Amino acid sequence: MSDSQNARERDAIIAGVTVAFLLRESEISQMVAAILAARMAALTASYTDAAATMGVDVPDDWEPPDELVSRMRSASERNAKSIAETYRSDLEATALAFLLAWEGQHGGSLDGARDALREHLADWCATRAAWKASQVSQYETASGSDSGTEQFIQELLDGTATDSNGDPIDSTGAVVAVLPDYSSPDGICSDYAGETFPLADYDLLPDYPVHLNCIHEKTIILAS
Ligand SMILES: [Zn+2]
Repeated sequence: MSDSQNARERDAIIAGVTVAFLLRESEISQMVAAILAARMAALTASYTDAAATMGVDVPDDWEPPDELVSRMRSASERNAKSIAETYRSDLEATALAFLLAWEGQHGGSLDGARDALREHLADWCATRAAWKASQVSQYETASGSDSGTEQFIQELLDGTATDSNGDPIDSTGAVVAVLPDYSSPDGICSDYAGETFPLADYDLLPDYPVHLNCIHEKTIILAS
């Protein structure tokens, strides 16, 4: 076969085989719902933690403001879509690499490659699903947590965070810390890890996580 015939045949095999492995609309919708649920749980937990640091009891039925919920929903939809797109391009790249290797091992022939590719992709998908799911859940949880801390700090700054008597919380002595205090020396996190910042500078700090596998978060602490 000529190179261009092989390229056409490869494309046809990739299109035919990968279609069974692509994420369906219903799976992407489920992913949006799972991401949103993880974000809202993390957001509520970090909001409650930040409030507790300042001596505020958050009622059990506390709900984040609508604007924040819709921001979380948009982020969940955007991220699920981007995960599905990355998955598709990784899948296609994996299929192409497999077929090129197959040709190399079979004197340029693609005979039998279709079935072998199907098996190869089934293994690939199973392996990738496991580490990808944990990476995604770590990222989305950390991002939701950042938003909950941000929400409480915003309320402290604009005076809407109140104690049980309805009086605004005095935020004197409260600062934002980026924790843990260590980081790999290269990259943006080393400039912030372990540092503290005035609450009013909150907007100037990065949104966490800054990158995949970023371990850092912003926390409100009382400077002694
Ligand atoms: Zn980091």
